[in-house]
Amino acid sequence: MRLNMRTAAKIPIAHPIIGEEERQRVLEVLASGTLVADRMVREFEEAFAAYLGVAHAVATSSGTTGLQVALEALGIGAGDRVVTTPFTFAATSHAILHAGARPVFADVDPSTYNLDPHALEEAVRRTGARAVIVVHLFGLPSDMAAIGEVVRQHNLLLIEDCAQAHGAEFRGRKVGTLGHAAVFSFYPTKNMTTGEGGMVVTDDAAVARRARLLVDPRAAEEYVYDVIGHNFRMTDVAAAMGVPQLRRLDAHNAARRRNARRLTGAFRDLEWLTPPVEPGDAYHVYTQYTVRVRPREGLMAHLSREGVGCKIYYPLLIPQTPAYRRLGFDATYPVGETLTREVLSLPVHPALSADDVARVADAVRSFRPA
Ligand SMILES: *Cc1c(COP(=O)(O)O)cnc(C)c1O
Repeated sequence: MRLNMRTAAKIPIAHPIIGEEERQRVLEVLASGTLVADRMVREFEEAFAAYLGVAHAVATSSGTTGLQVALEALGIGAGDRVVTTPFTFAATSHAILHAGARPVFADVDPSTYNLDPHALEEAVRRTGARAVIVVHLFGLPSDMAAIGEVVRQHNLLLIEDCAQAHGAEFRGRKVGTLGHAAVFSFYPTKNMTTGEGGMVVTDDAAVARRARLLVDPRAAEEYVYDVIGHNFRMTDVAAAMGVPQLRRLDAHNAARRRNARRLTGAFRDLEWLTPPVEPGDAYHVYTQYTVRVRPREGLMAHLSREGVGCKIYYPLLIPQTPAYRRLGFDATYPVGETLTREVLSLPVHPALSADDVARVADAVRSFRPA
């Protein structure tokens, strides 16, 4: 018997999984009376650094503030240019502006949706940029071999935006360990969550020390200030969730990959849809399962009738948003622009049952493009 799609519950595009351990540890913090950054934050920082195999991890209030801290801790600021992708969540380039530097946008690769290393090199030559922020978009690592080559040749500072790539790997090495610093986000739609939260990681002790002072001016000795700090601290209430979330990260990523494999298998014969790719040197963690489709609007209306959540990440390139237009950004990015017209993200998260995944696949397959 065929399920009546209209009465079945809608399948959401994201659904954080909060377990009993998270609940218990949050209650423990509330009972302790110490709500600000303390034991839980330190424990989470140590666990996260150990998971990645990096020397230092500094918890922050969000991925956005973490990116600003990473830039400032590396000494990037007024007068500096930082290359990044126009096809990302706005926080990547907002952070460059917050740090006082100027973003330079370079176009993306049409199959991976990530920064095109040739476009990066051209942008560095043209602008004399000092640094690059690579984004491992939707959970897929950027081409770090080619990007690393440009970084070495031009002596750039490299920051990885890993807000969508907890546990992803490039040639067997975890992303977040491949540059001078990296930043993670723990927003509820990401691979693990603390509600709001972020983490700056680095192997450089001096960068870590500056990051800590930027996040928390209380860390300065005897009120003698060496850097102009913010208050970008994570609370112990949020950090309490981090350790159990991290413990389940690999299993949740494996579930995301299993769901993605099923969807891609189901879509193989659809000539109007291009599934996401996973190059041989990458371990994709599918924060989002993002396809290219035409016509997209027809499919979205169809999925809505079928009770399947979907979302456009991202409908506009960052330099083409009004705030950036007013700052004088006016270049065109042909690949990125095509992606903004064709991409659609479908549910892939680990809370999906096998039946849910089959429903997503069936809903897409039953669409008839005009
Ligand atoms: C989510 C995200 C951020 C920002 O993280 P927040 O914790 O929401 O501030 C930065 N970059 C990318 C690519 C993201 O997806």
